[in-house]
Amino acid sequence: MTDPAQPTTSEVPQAPKAKAKLKVSVLRCRDAACGALMPFEETDQGYLLGRVLELADVDGEVRYLPCPKCEGRLLLEEYEHAGKIRVRIRDFEPGNSPGTA
Ligand SMILES: [Zn+2]
Repeated sequence: MTDPAQPTTSEVPQAPKAKAKLKVSVLRCRDAACGALMPFEETDQGYLLGRVLELADVDGEVRYLPCPKCEGRLLLEEYEHAGKIRVRIRDFEPGNSPGTA
């Protein structure tokens, strides 16, 4: 059997060097069981767009976004990303409101 040498094993580059394009999605409550949509946008890099800090609620030194559905708190923090100060969700505090479902 003569098999013609075919270059069939040409490796296709699976990861083209795509420029990091910012993907933005609507921020959702961090409670998986809630998942309420928040009036903010979150990039796929994890930081929030817009004047989040100005619109956030303040409790002492904590700034947070209240979830309108489960009344949990999306705690905010500032951090530096690519030389800019960004805001991201640091933690989630579930809202303890028994009886008001
Ligand atoms: Zn929620």
